[in-house]
Amino acid sequence: MATITKQYIDGEFVESHGRELMDIIKPTNRQVIGRVTLGDEEDTRRAIAAAKRAFTTFGQTTKEERASYLGGLYKAVSLRIDDLTAAMVEEYGGVVRFARLIVESGANAFPAAEKGLEELPMTRRWGKTTVTLAPVGVAGLITAWNANALFICLKLASAIGAGCTVVIKPSELSSLQTEVMLECVEAAKLPKGVCNVVIGRGGVVGAELVRNPDVAKISFTGSVAVGQSIMRDGAATMKRVTLELGGKSPTILLDDAVLDKAIPAALILAFMNSGQACAAGTRLLVPKSRVAEVKRGIAEAMTTFSVGDPADPRTAVGPMVSQNQYERVQSYIRKGIEEGAEVLVGGEGHPPGLEAGYFVKPTVFANVKNDMTIAQEELFGPVLCVIAYDSEDEAIRIANDSKYGLHGAVLGADLQRARRVASQIRAGRVVINGMTDDPQAPWGGFKYSGVGREYGRYGIEAFLETRAILES
Ligand code: NAD
Repeated sequence: MATITKQYIDGEFVESHGRELMDIIKPTNRQVIGRVTLGDEEDTRRAIAAAKRAFTTFGQTTKEERASYLGGLYKAVSLRIDDLTAAMVEEYGGVVRFARLIVESGANAFPAAEKGLEELPMTRRWGKTTVTLAPVGVAGLITAWNANALFICLKLASAIGAGCTVVIKPSELSSLQTEVMLECVEAAKLPKGVCNVVIGRGGVVGAELVRNPDVAKISFTGSVAVGQSIMRDGAATMKRVTLELGGKSPTILLDDAVLDKAIPAALILAFMNSGQACAAGTRLLVPKSRVAEVKRGIAEAMTTFSVGDPADPRTAVGPMVSQNQYERVQSYIRKGIEEGAEVLVGGEGHPPGLEAGYFVKPTVFANVKNDMTIAQEELFGPVLCVIAYDSEDEAIRIANDSKYGLHGAVLGADLQRARRVASQIRAGRVVINGMTDDPQAPWGGFKYSGVGREYGRYGIEAFLETRAILES
């Protein structure tokens, strides 16, 4: 049983001042597998003070020095891919084949930031004017549980690239991953106080970061409601904010799509990370003329879709992270049925034999109208809505008829046409013909999906201020 009692402040593991204990519960069987001591406001203030002291020198480092720290972090995280993956599988039931991709993507954030830094001119001069980019100061990095290690890597890489010092508040549901990440930070030998971590509750540690005048910036990944509170409460101390929030992403299947490829691609988009993914393509838009064959194709493909032990590489969908999350998904499935959607696959309750954990049935609703609750709200579980459309214009209209705008996908044989459709989706990222990634490409949302961008050069820019010096 894991016992975590320390915070990481000023380059040392120190006993937590906060005394609240929280159980770590394994989602596959609801057993207590560890206990963590949660930090409090005092731990947070100590961490902020350490970051503030460290900023006086770290904020002056050269690009080359910061690139070498990024290289050290990459090396340290790359050596711990297996451990980070195992922690994700254990503590939140991430399916192993996806968890590994997530962790690798986290490691790759460091070289991506190094490249971004290389490309970013920190000084520009013309005539008697010099424009420099300066690190914003101490940054609070607040992460969600569903890919905690990746979010820590992404935000830390950008902050270090910019010359900011940080206090990380990881999700309280991710302590095992955070412990491994901390060992990576230790191994990378960052100067004392540059990276501090306080594990604790959002309303305690997170709220202190948001209100503390010595924190200049908050980079947050999580729900819209908390993102809104950060924007509102952070205004008192004029916080700069990056907010990576929720989504209800559309996948537009065009009428020329080859279904043998398009259906598996649509299902990966919908069910990645057991549907607990901000980018999940949970609305599949299908031309009316092809609805019947798409429904048949999905029903058949789902028969080989295995739910169960997330450590088994054949598993496609694991458990939900917690009892709350399990109930939330159940209540939306009920709502979908009440609103008249057709249950094509799955439905309410546990899959047979998996009653011990927070497992839900991967569910596909057909005959969904875009104004139904299940098509409008982010339910954060393995539930896909199939929505019919008449024309390409209508597909684009439905895709954009959402308060969210994080991600989208287009599936079709004619690449020119797919690109044209993609360019009309109001979302921060759109993939064509399947899920893919590029660590240099920006990530972030339109509308309620957030403010600002992460990854590579875009991520670093979010931690910088612009200063002009004019000589007379
Ligand atoms: P959440 O908003 O409940 O929590 C996120 C983090 O904020 C946690 O660390 C939590 O402790 C902290 N927090 C809670 N209250 C706070 C407060 N008052 N002040 C400061 N911090 C506070 O979200 P979650 O349940 O952990 O994650 C799921 C959500 O995250 C979903 O909506 C999902 O779409 C979103 N998400 C977005 C992205 C993205 O990149 N856009 C990625 C992953 C998850």
